[in-house]
Amino acid sequence: MAGERALGPSERVQDYTARFGRFLAEQVEPLEAELATKGLGTVWAPALDDAGRMHRDVWETRREVQRRSAAAGLYNPHVSADVGGGGFTRVEMQHVEEYVYRTAGLGLGLCGLAWTEGANPAIEHCSDAARGRYLDPLMAGEISAAFANTETSVGTDVLAMETSARRDGSDWILDGNKAWITNAHFADVLQVVAVTEPGAGTRSLTMFLVDADAPGVTRGRDIPTMLGDGLTGELGFDGVRVPAENVVREVGDGFALAMSWINWRRLCRGGMCAGWGYWLLDRALDRARTRQSGGRPIADLQAVQHLLADIDADIYAARSASLLAQAELDELGPYAIPLHHDAPRLISLIKVINDEAFFRVADNALQVHGGTGLLQNSPEEKLFRVARNLKIPAGTVEIQRNAIARGLLRR
Ligand SMILES: Cc1cc2nc3c(=O)[nH]c(=O)nc-3n(C[C@H](O)[C@H](O)[C@H](O)COP(=O)(O)OP(=O)(O)OC[C@H]3O[C@@H](n4cnc5c(N)ncnc54)[C@H](O)[C@@H]3O)c2cc1C
Repeated sequence: MAGERALGPSERVQDYTARFGRFLAEQVEPLEAELATKGLGTVWAPALDDAGRMHRDVWETRREVQRRSAAAGLYNPHVSADVGGGGFTRVEMQHVEEYVYRTAGLGLGLCGLAWTEGANPAIEHCSDAARGRYLDPLMAGEISAAFANTETSVGTDVLAMETSARRDGSDWILDGNKAWITNAHFADVLQVVAVTEPGAGTRSLTMFLVDADAPGVTRGRDIPTMLGDGLTGELGFDGVRVPAENVVREVGDGFALAMSWINWRRLCRGGMCAGWGYWLLDRALDRARTRQSGGRPIADLQAVQHLLADIDADIYAARSASLLAQAELDELGPYAIPLHHDAPRLISLIKVINDEAFFRVADNALQVHGGTGLLQNSPEEKLFRVARNLKIPAGTVEIQRNAIARGLLRR
């Protein structure tokens, strides 16, 4: 069992977090101060352009953090050592992610660790030619990516997607539309999942790397979500020619690769929710100690103490469960293709436990702040919206329960 394994931060995690702390102070804070003078909102509540997209200057400031982080050797700890990443285990990444989210809060520093714009477990399987063209520049923070799986009429039911690719000589021709894509407006390379063998079930899909400026690619409208970040949009593909070298891994591996990408996002919930959870708890404790009611701090009131205790209990339980599951997954191979049959249940446990615990944490933290917590774009209000959002992307909480039950019943 994972309980016997070391679950604390390794030496290289301690080295990473010390360096990341210095990076925030020396490289990110000046950029944050400069952004604050521009009147473009904040990173978590950015000004939007006329089309509803994140203002380009905010976007460019984020990109600068990514480039600086890559130069400092901090951007890719999660990427396999085989392709030049840090090769950190999932337990190590949970500690790294927790540190980054707790320390950066909602600030620019979050961009110092590759998020969905960066390298991911699926793109690591690209060809040597694609590696030089896409993966290396992604890891250097020179370009950014988007994962294009969902369509307007197909979300959960991935195998019903309509975007398709057909062979033309050694090339492929891609046609279709994608929706709800994070970074659709700005990405340089698109990881597109498309049908290549209709009716072949989990072998029916293939993942392609597509230049966002290739003829036939269009960026659609912004899809304004409750996150208000101007980062979610549509993509169109009309007879887009894609060379064979841009097929990721093998034809027919698209479903497995899409699941690698999605599972990566599910696993990241562990550190993200613990980090943001403790950040909210620290802010709630400060507020409880300083806000007065009836001539004494609200921290003296049992009703408020219980809110604080519930926050702590939720974070502690979700963090502990996540670390155990990440350790078990490190042994099974979290992104192996094919995935070990016990892995999906563990991955879904991490996602559903964190999504639901963090929703309660964000709700209770906001409650401690009273009306101030409801102020539009206050950190508590923004993270309450983020927490609500988390239960849907990368597979809804219902779908996680399906995977957990499947894992149990096949035993
Ligand atoms: C902010 C944001 C960012 C996103 N970023 C990306 C991205 O970068 N790339 C990308 O490809 N996609 C992205 N998505 C899409 C996201 O992954 C989907 O929204 C998600 O998978 C759910 O699909 P859906 O919205 O179509 O919901 P539906 O599939 O329509 O589900 C609706 C409801 O039915 C339930 N349901 C559906 N099928 C089942 C079932 N078989 N069993 C039980 N319950 C079921 C669901 O749980 C849900 O409650 C993003 C979405 C959002 C909101």
